[in-house]
Amino acid sequence: MDAPLREYRSKRDFSKTPEPDGNEGDVAPFFVVQEHHASRLHHDLRLLMDGTLKSWAVPKGVPEGPKIKRLAVQTEDHPVSYGSFEGTIPDGEYGAGTVRIFDRGDLEVKERGEDRIVFEMRGARFNGTYALIRFKGQENKNDNWLLMRTR
Ligand code: MN
Repeated sequence: MDAPLREYRSKRDFSKTPEPDGNEGDVAPFFVVQEHHASRLHHDLRLLMDGTLKSWAVPKGVPEGPKIKRLAVQTEDHPVSYGSFEGTIPDGEYGAGTVRIFDRGDLEVKERGEDRIVFEMRGARFNGTYALIRFKGQENKNDNWLLMRTR
């Protein structure tokens, strides 16, 4: 049952990192954008879908306005409780650095396909309809998506 979080757990030593190990119940759909001061500062966009937090690292940050396309690299599913995580991952651990919540709010997934997800975020900073479009035609590079605000 917890197989979807296997990669997440395999990367972390929960005796060392303050991050959640992920055991939780039902939660209403939400998004969270976390600012992660890792070796490179980036945003992590997480959308609650399929009972887990589908996750993308966004090196240049989630666009607040339309007409801006940003690379979003899909990462391993995170536990739902990660959506309220803030803290510092110790040096030497996976993703070492400080994580803080940049924005969080209600999520409505409007369209969902293998290569395209359209969703509405209702947060304090991010409020609008966004699309994630998977890059095509790249071997072993299925993790790369484009993130943009459509409305
Ligand atoms: Mn990150």
